[in-house]
Amino acid sequence: MITSKDIKEAAKRMGADIVGIGSIDRWSTAPIQMDPKQIMPKAKSIICMGFRVLRGSLRGLEEGTYFSNYSAMGYGGITYLYMPMTVINLAKMIEDAGYEAVPMGHQSDWRAIDNSGYMKKNFSRPVAPGKAAPDVMINLRIAGFLCGLGEIGYSKMLLTPEFGPRVRVGIIITELELEPDPIIEPGTLCNRCMACVRECPGGCIPADRTVKDNVGGYELEWADVDMERCDWVFQGGAESEEGERGDYFNENWKSGKYKPSDISPFYKAPPHLYNSGKAVCGAKGCTRACMISLEKRGVLKNKFENPFRTSKPWHVDWSQEAIAVDYTPPYEGKDSPNNIKSNDTDTD
Ligand code: SF4
Ligand code: SF4
Repeated sequence: MITSKDIKEAAKRMGADIVGIGSIDRWSTAPIQMDPKQIMPKAKSIICMGFRVLRGSLRGLEEGTYFSNYSAMGYGGITYLYMPMTVINLAKMIEDAGYEAVPMGHQSDWRAIDNSGYMKKNFSRPVAPGKAAPDVMINLRIAGFLCGLGEIGYSKMLLTPEFGPRVRVGIIITELELEPDPIIEPGTLCNRCMACVRECPGGCIPADRTVKDNVGGYELEWADVDMERCDWVFQGGAESEEGERGDYFNENWKSGKYKPSDISPFYKAPPHLYNSGKAVCGAKGCTRACMISLEKRGVLKNKFENPFRTSKPWHVDWSQEAIAVDYTPPYEGKDSPNNIKSNDTDTD
């Protein structure tokens, strides 16, 4: 019989940074569209794995010089590549022992609810009375809480004792009965410092509007985050005024016009990486500011020699002429550094 200890050791060997287990009864109050029993009626346990976002993946954003690393290595690469491999391999181990296991990550594009939890209109219909409309999607952050990996911060992010908000989550729903982990008491990490509110570039995390929910017997409260606004703010867009340019996104995004905001140095929104969003904002409030606050308080286990923030946060002043850039090819001819020819554009 596989034990919780076996599962945790295997998950870490396979690439998870942190692992927690919740018994299925903790989801007894889950809404139908987020109920794991809608996917696996005989489920007994949920295994939740956390994958750290490297602090180094946020470095280039903090410096304002290298943005793609967070979207690729800290976001899409984990979500669509690294995490599914670990989750699938662990599910194989459970099925080899004779228990069904559903591996789950971020298949949000097919879910029947939108980012704010409302049913999408004319998207899908239940196949029988009493069943959810496809796709059901387990709330991964709530799973992190119910499996004892962390708490839900004011920002609505999962905060873990190891990495704070710097973590992405994958889960397995299984018929295997496992010893559950204790839940981390709400308020263990989030002290309502409101750094996330102050530093969110779009004001998407309100200080005075919250959502309350009973989750696994705990009364949780988090900010009523404006997810629709976050959708374009985090890509570096800002609403255009009359007479201003509005071509930051290729089409009229959500029937509005957008310009680059002061946290985007890009003339137009850059392309997707690994199918994930273009996280130009780099989670400035909900991740970076929160992490800085938690690190300053010394409450995270992942310690660093140097503080993350070493200079004042930068802003792009789009009302000014651009800082001059030398567009002449710098690496002409054989005397060039590293002998790179100017037409070698693919320097990956
Ligand atoms: S920044 Fe402060 S208030 Fe916001 S989630 Fe983090 S600890 Fe909580
Ligand atoms: S991703 Fe950026 S815009 Fe969205 S809530 Fe976090 S800090 Fe705000």
